[in-house]
Amino acid sequence: MRIILANPRGFCAGVHMAIDVVDQLLDICPDTPVYVFHEIVHNKHVVGRFIGRGVTFVEEVSEVPEGNIVVFSAHGISPAVREEAKARNLTSIDATCPLVTKVHMEAIRYAKQGYQILLIGHANHQEVVGTRGEAPDSIQVVETPADIPNLTISDPDMLVYLTQTTLSTDDAEIIIDALRAAFPNIKAPPSSDICYATTNRQRAVRQIAPDCDLCLVVGSRNSSNSVRLTEISQSAGCPARLLDDVSELNSAWLEGKQNVLVTAGASAPEDLVASLVRKLVTDFRGKIEVRDIFEEDVEFAIPATLKRMMRDEGIDPNERRIHITRPEITQDLYGAVPLTVSAS
Ligand code: SF4
Repeated sequence: MRIILANPRGFCAGVHMAIDVVDQLLDICPDTPVYVFHEIVHNKHVVGRFIGRGVTFVEEVSEVPEGNIVVFSAHGISPAVREEAKARNLTSIDATCPLVTKVHMEAIRYAKQGYQILLIGHANHQEVVGTRGEAPDSIQVVETPADIPNLTISDPDMLVYLTQTTLSTDDAEIIIDALRAAFPNIKAPPSSDICYATTNRQRAVRQIAPDCDLCLVVGSRNSSNSVRLTEISQSAGCPARLLDDVSELNSAWLEGKQNVLVTAGASAPEDLVASLVRKLVTDFRGKIEVRDIFEEDVEFAIPATLKRMMRDEGIDPNERRIHITRPEITQDLYGAVPLTVSAS
């Protein structure tokens, strides 16, 4: 069996930054309780590991005792949440991904200019809830083309669409085409709102999946970008399975399979990918091949409040900059080293 490891896969810069924020807080305030509003990123293991280190995850700001520290997750929050934290005298550290903040800024700007905003995305996703909160009277959510006839439009010449950052680029295109057909003068955002990490991971699966007979995506079920990877593989004709970790692997899935694509959503830690690959190598005699589709080199700065707290503790924030690099595939972690590394 060939195990084809997609590159890029796994952690994006936004997830890395958000996780690093909580990591650094635990280091610099070891005796202070740390609260996180919603899952810091959508991954069961990341959240579980932080709970094991004493972090408390809350779904309401009112659950955080007054005067404590709260971290806002990578998916962003609405201004109402920020205000509530202020009213409770909390020290807020905003780990919102800058690419989500970009969509918030666009929403604020277009709403001020008098546009009605059609936000393409999943209505209940944390990110969409946060973006919508920036201008609730100006934003309507569009989940599918079937929602278009139910929209309330006052001036079809003053319409703009924005998107959630982690949508499937193919699905978003279908909805955008339908919006353009219904409202020919609808304006597009200045650049795509679907982020670089989502786009690159999807592009890798789209290119590699046609050569494979199974795709294993490491990620959690509430991770939008992980679910999208399974859908993209399936539409390329390659059956896909989403699994949180190797314990969910079912050997029946692998019967008769020759080429297995392994990838991971943007919030899935690489050690979980490594354990899955190790199992495929040891139990299914897999041989690793790395397929490079796109080389990423992106880093986001940590939030200003955290930098200030670090300086107060005598720590130079620049000394703790973490840069995502391509994972090194070692015999110990992955069970074998790659036989080939190739670009597509
Ligand atoms: S998936 Fe994209 S938008 Fe979400 S945290 Fe990563 S880089 Fe930011």
